[in-house]
Amino acid sequence: MIFYKTREEIELIRQSANLLGKAHGEVAKMISPGVKTIDLDKRAEEFIRDHGGIPSFKGYNKNFPGSLCISVNEQVVHGFPSEYTLREGDIISVDCGVFLNGFHSDSAYTYAVGPVSEDVRRLLQVTKASLFKGIEQVRSGNRVGDISFAIQTFVESHNFTIIRELVGHGVGKALHESPEVPNFGKRGRGVKLRDGLVIAIEPMVNMGRRNVVQEKDGWTIRTLDRKPSAHFEHTVAVSNGKAEVLTTFEYIEQVYKL
Ligand code: MG
Ligand code: MG
Repeated sequence: MIFYKTREEIELIRQSANLLGKAHGEVAKMISPGVKTIDLDKRAEEFIRDHGGIPSFKGYNKNFPGSLCISVNEQVVHGFPSEYTLREGDIISVDCGVFLNGFHSDSAYTYAVGPVSEDVRRLLQVTKASLFKGIEQVRSGNRVGDISFAIQTFVESHNFTIIRELVGHGVGKALHESPEVPNFGKRGRGVKLRDGLVIAIEPMVNMGRRNVVQEKDGWTIRTLDRKPSAHFEHTVAVSNGKAEVLTTFEYIEQVYKL
């Protein structure tokens, strides 16, 4: 069942999303070689709690250990913070959720740590651009499949691959609500978009083959061929018939440029 939000509820989610955007900005300031991923997590948690929010991911499914999902290089999503020290040439996906005002928000960004190869830089650029290709399809009357199709065709036209096992989702009082928002699919299929729908759109794009596996830790998803993977995510509402992007990369991009 899909929970459509009122304008007032979308406003509450926007506040949650704005705190999330600022927390991402705090993490972005710290991304550099020599930093431990556990320290990124500590900063995010402290910042979110200092501003009255709760990290959505901490304790998720009874036992997720972090406030951030941190996925480095061939890790795709759901990696967790650790003593791992970032090295020049790494890429790191930072995914975060905030619970504020009774509502979640969800957003992810993938950073290059120092200079990276041209191929990797293109992977990051194409993945981020594919998110906005998906967002362009968000309007009343379109369907979830229009988002999926736009992302898939854009990514594949650049000779990268789209992961199929993991998808975007509705966002609201629960972190993961209906409907699913796949990053692959056919135009004109799926749930019709209308005012009040709030979804997380989150393309996960691989440099090599699209296949992924789960590590024995029970959480981390990585590419089967161990080639790099990137992930960008925004929480988006349909409002007045159009897309309203509720989360923001503004605070990240004040301090980080690819
Ligand atoms: Mg997320
Ligand atoms: Mg998500």
